[in-house]
Amino acid sequence: MAKRRTVIAGNWKMYKTVSEAVDYAGKFLEEVRNVTELDIVLCAPFTALSSLKNELEESIVHLGAQNMAWADQGAYTGEISAQMLLDVACTYVILGHSERRELFGETDEEIAKKVQKALSSGLKPMLCVGENLNVRAEGKAAERVSTQVSRALTGLSIEDLRRVIVAYEPIWAIGTGKTASSKDAQEMCASIRATLSGLMGSAAEQVPILYGGSVKAENIAELLAEPDIDGALVGGASLDPLSFARLVHNA
Ligand code: PGA
Repeated sequence: MAKRRTVIAGNWKMYKTVSEAVDYAGKFLEEVRNVTELDIVLCAPFTALSSLKNELEESIVHLGAQNMAWADQGAYTGEISAQMLLDVACTYVILGHSERRELFGETDEEIAKKVQKALSSGLKPMLCVGENLNVRAEGKAAERVSTQVSRALTGLSIEDLRRVIVAYEPIWAIGTGKTASSKDAQEMCASIRATLSGLMGSAAEQVPILYGGSVKAENIAELLAEPDIDGALVGGASLDPLSFARLVHNA
């Protein structure tokens, strides 16, 4: 069976103006131009995507967004569609990030609609799932995450499921400096793969499962050494081009 490719994705969140993004791209590309063995994605704010499209053209770095609407077009004030993302050369889109779920009230139902729209439009969804500290303390982390995965992906064809990336991001590890131990992260990613197997059989072996939550250059190698962790979704440590390039080189 073909080996899964490693994916390292930066999630800039609500940081960087256009000029900061362009400056970053120049410095980052300089550092990673010879990296061919993994997929690098920068998920930038909407306003920076068009300029980044020009900066990253013909480079090995892929472009992603951090959210999108489930509708095609119309009276949806403040929303951005899949077509708009394709228009600025995005190939990936983060969906269901815990900050969207917790701060902006996104439900599993809406996230499922967004995943379907991303897939039917030709974007690769990075579906984020993860438990909070209370759920973990109750011993229900695997169950919660499995429910999130099932609700977002049930009903999709195996062909569609093959284009999905799942990111396991325990909420208590995001932006806190507390990384899940590689053993705990592996256990959760293995349980996500088991849930995927229920939906798509042995094709689940091909789905990249990323870990996210205080990943940095110093801990990426240990996380990637685990059999079911295929990459990382990186917030804080992706904001500086040289640090993020170092993380990429350690992956
Ligand atoms: P962090 O964020 O790396 O800053 O913990 C990860 C994320 O929210 O995707």
